[in-house]
Amino acid sequence: MRKIYLDNNATTPIHPEVIKEMGNDLEITYGNPSTLYSIGKEAKAKLEEARGRVANIIGAKSEEIVFTSGGTEANNLAIFGICKAYRNKGNHIITSKIEHDSVLNTCKALERDGFDIAYLPVDSYGMVDPEELKKAIRPDTIIISIMHSNNETGTIQPVSDMARIAKDRGIPFHTDAVQSIGKIKVNVEDLGVNLLSIASHKIYGPKGIGALYIRKGTRIQPILFGGHQEKGYRPGTENVPGIVGFGKAAEIADKNIETERLARLRDRLYNSLKEKIERIRLNGHPTRRLPNTLNVSIEFVEVEGMILALDDLGISVGTGSACATDTLEPSHVLAAMGVPPQLAHSTLRFSLGMDNTDEDIDYLIEIFPGVIERLRSFSPLY
Ligand SMILES: *Cc1c(COP(=O)(O)O)cnc(C)c1O
Repeated sequence: MRKIYLDNNATTPIHPEVIKEMGNDLEITYGNPSTLYSIGKEAKAKLEEARGRVANIIGAKSEEIVFTSGGTEANNLAIFGICKAYRNKGNHIITSKIEHDSVLNTCKALERDGFDIAYLPVDSYGMVDPEELKKAIRPDTIIISIMHSNNETGTIQPVSDMARIAKDRGIPFHTDAVQSIGKIKVNVEDLGVNLLSIASHKIYGPKGIGALYIRKGTRIQPILFGGHQEKGYRPGTENVPGIVGFGKAAEIADKNIETERLARLRDRLYNSLKEKIERIRLNGHPTRRLPNTLNVSIEFVEVEGMILALDDLGISVGTGSACATDTLEPSHVLAAMGVPPQLAHSTLRFSLGMDNTDEDIDYLIEIFPGVIERLRSFSPLY
């Protein structure tokens, strides 16, 4: 059966060249990068080459990249790390209602420790208003964390405007750019952020590895303690094969940003579905959105039914949110946008990637309206 993977915002398939580079590393340059003999020095050289490649994709300097175990740890390090360094200045944190759980639950943990958190609202497109940020800033605000683009809807936030506001007030600004990297151009100088999170498995690299960009001069404390690796910001023997794979993935992604191609496929998909299926609506900003992401609510059909029916036909698509799969809670992102819970339960996310072709989209357009028609025939409400 034909297999079509359309859940690239949940994770991406690993690129064949990444696998090759990692295999080579596991077999040949397996040394501990902290050792003095040549096999260790080779590993160290591989590590630093990868650091340069990751720095390059966001326009940073090598020494501003700290490797972590993924996007989640990068977000934890950014927020906890700044809070520890700025504890004497205040205990107010600003974030938004639509962040990934790795930011929201970090903030909730800090809230239990006595920090005060402002969760900025979003409009019906899922966009934070920089004016709301201005209003929320207090003298005791010590960090602002607003994501670069949302994983569910793809809506791209006005990060450079917000980072400028933060800079004027002398407050460190963090952005979770996990979904944006490799899909659109992201440059830390243009953005003006202090901290930025990246995850390898969202850019065709291995899972369990990521990075935090820390702008030179940013005051931050580690959250793990041990050896001197990663200049003490992230101790523990480095995951060299993971880092090498991440570096290769970053190098490839930098050369292959497919904004136009993916946006064309995605828009063709939506326009055709809109013609063939009634009562379907787009969630997210119509234009300020990741080129690969299509989040739609289809009234009178349950998301589980759609996902399983498509899976039977070899097609993998996401619910509105990867995390909502375990809990069946309606997505906090759609709720913040004012989407009613009933409609949130009828929401699918198509997220396209490097491997998707025009033929994939043709096939989906051909079979999907029939799937919906069948599911709706079981719905007493339709
Ligand atoms: C996937 C994702 C993360 C988490 O990254 P992991 O490497 O899976 O821990 C964080 N933020 C966003 C926006 C994501 O999409």
